[in-house]
Amino acid sequence: MIKIEGLKKVYKNGNIAVEALKGINLTVKPKEFVSIMGPSGSGKSTMMNILGCLDKPSDGKYELDGEIIEGMNDDQLAVIRNKKIGFVFQSFNLLPRISALRNVELPMIYAGVSPEERRKRAINALERVGLGERMNHKSNELSGGQRQRVAIARALVNNPSILLADEPTGNLDTKAGDEIMEIFQQLNNDGVTIVMVTHEPEIAEHTKRIITFRDGEIIEDKMVENQIILS
Ligand code: ADP
Ligand code: ADP
Repeated sequence: MIKIEGLKKVYKNGNIAVEALKGINLTVKPKEFVSIMGPSGSGKSTMMNILGCLDKPSDGKYELDGEIIEGMNDDQLAVIRNKKIGFVFQSFNLLPRISALRNVELPMIYAGVSPEERRKRAINALERVGLGERMNHKSNELSGGQRQRVAIARALVNNPSILLADEPTGNLDTKAGDEIMEIFQQLNNDGVTIVMVTHEPEIAEHTKRIITFRDGEIIEDKMVENQIILS
């Protein structure tokens, strides 16, 4: 699914250069469920932005679901993002005054899906995350955990190859956070590949593999021996 070799990212501000990623090698196979951990400034966001085709590496190779990503221009990256990647953010990033259903339909409008098909797929995705009953609520009428479930439904509707989540439980209490992890585990059981950043060890224990970054390098990469299954 993901094949990365010698990936580097250098940020240049005037004559100061920061090497945020120092030659990362990483393979993620289909159906994996990976957490990325590490202290602040270790390169996690930079890694997620490159994985998500939001930013370009300075050097190295990146292959995603058979596509050679390095060297693509912004338009080509946008096509890959729409076709292959679902994003979930800490801050949900929903439009507050429109319904859950409408929020989930939005990415399909950009993808040119017909209105009937949009509605059908949005309802299906909302039912998948347990929000079938609440889909006509505006997102600002929902709890944090419910909002994140809407965001997950939105991330799924274009049937992405991979789900990328940046601190998806960071704004949630333990109970709501566990509900989100339970949904991720179900999706992963259904075959969805997930890569997630978290700095909470208890959250990472719900995934299958933990990769730890430090100073722009991977310092540890281990399988979770006793994955804690929710549900
Ligand atoms: P993390 O997500 O683990 O906190 P980041 O990927 O945000 O780490 O940052 C890695 C390093 O790159 C840090 O030293 C950070 O200061 C630097 N960095 C991140 N973004 C930029 C930027 N846009 N310009 C310059 N330096 C940056
Ligand atoms: P942080 O990790 O600093 O709390 P967010 O979780 O809001 O920030 O966003 C994580 C990353 O995703 C950011 O670096 C940003 O560039 C990117 N991002 C934020 N919003 C969007 C969006 N609507 N579409 C695509 N990428 C986004």
